[in-house]
This record gives sequence, structure tokens and C-alpha cells, in this order.
Amino acid sequence: MKLLVGTTNRGKLREFEALLAPLGFEVCALSDVAIDTAVDEDRDTFLGNAERKAVAYATRAGMLALADDSGLEVDALGGAPGVRSARYAGEGATDAANVEKLLAALAGRADRSARFRCALVVAGADGHVLATAEGTFEGRITDAPRGAGGFGYDPVFGLLDDPRTAAELPAEEKHARSHRGAALRGLAPQLAALRAAPRDATG
Ligand code: IMP
Repeated sequence: MKLLVGTTNRGKLREFEALLAPLGFEVCALSDVAIDTAVDEDRDTFLGNAERKAVAYATRAGMLALADDSGLEVDALGGAPGVRSARYAGEGATDAANVEKLLAALAGRADRSARFRCALVVAGADGHVLATAEGTFEGRITDAPRGAGGFGYDPVFGLLDDPRTAAELPAEEKHARSHRGAALRGLAPQLAALRAAPRDATG
């Protein structure tokens, strides 16, 4: 069964392919179905944005589609940057600029608790939501960046049970612990059920 994955991020596409192939799904990228316009992420929750994207891509392409949304919530900042994580330091901001703004906002603050969140939604060709899952990854924001792996806020995302940051984890270990990994594992049984009842999936 074919499944469109609504992301332009190659790394995420590979992660999704690895999970979905054993479940009997053939992954299509947006470029395979000639979709080159992004869907606005204008909702105020990760789940809302993932649903908006999954429904938009599924109906545009006329096929089963999966979309994700993720970001960082910092308790001392009332949950910011949240759904604005990618553009915290401004539209098109670099990871370095976002990290710098975050460290400045937390300067002198003792409460460094934070978490990554990921929401995943699968929609059918007719725009119905067929599966949803969410995952979290708890940590604390460090005083300075450390590590060269990962992306985004990983260099300042300190683990709770370990002296390393998420940017110091090998990719496989990050996947095993991360919000995206947890959400994918939550989605897997729902996808297996869709695979077993393909008529529901194709609308
Ligand atoms: P999106 O889900 O691609 O929209 O990602 C939103 C933003 O959240 C990213 O640009 C990163 O800044 C941040 N983010 C989401 N997941 C991670 C992660 O695993 N590590 C570091 N930053 C992340």
C-alpha cells in the first residue's frame, strides 16, 4: 500500500521509510506526486498542525498521507518556543540563532526543564483522519551548546539520566529515546490495522 509522507526533510523521510517498509507500506515523497507547495502550520498545537498537513496532502494527492509536527516546550518560558520552534528567532531563522535566543531567554533561570514533542497524523484520500500518535522526550536546557550530531535544539537539550546532550547521541540511540521515535512506535499498530483493512485507508 502506498503512503505519502508529507515532509521535505530527507532525514525524517528515511526514518519513516525504515518504520513503514516492514509494515508493508511503500513510501512516496512529496516530489514523487509533484507537490511543491508547503501547507501553512498555523494551528496552536502540534497535533493540529500535523492534522492540517496530513489532510491537505492526502486530499491534494488523492492518497493516504502521513504528516508530522514537532518542537520544543520550555517550562520556564510557559511552553515556548512550542509550535514556533523552527522560527523562534524569526522567519527562516538558523538553528544557531534559535539556540542563541533560547539561551538568552533562560539566562539566570534555575528551572531548565523542557521537552520535545512530536505529533503524527495519517489521513485517507477523502481527508478523514485515520490514525494519530504523539511522543515526548524529557530533558533540561544546558547552559551552553555541546555536541555535533542531530539538528535544531539538540546541542542544548540535556538528557535527564545521562551527562550528554541529544547532539551527543548516536542517531540510533536518539531515535530510540526521542519524541519522534515514541510517536512512530505509537503509530505502528494503527498503521498495521490500516494495512489489514485497506478499503478504510483509501477512502
Ligand atoms: P518541524 O517538526 O520540522 O516543524 O520542526 C520544528 C522545529 O522543532 C525544528 O526546526 C527544530 O527547531 C525543533 N525540533 C523538532 N524536533 C527536534 C529534535 O529532535 N531535535 C532538535 N530540535 C527539534
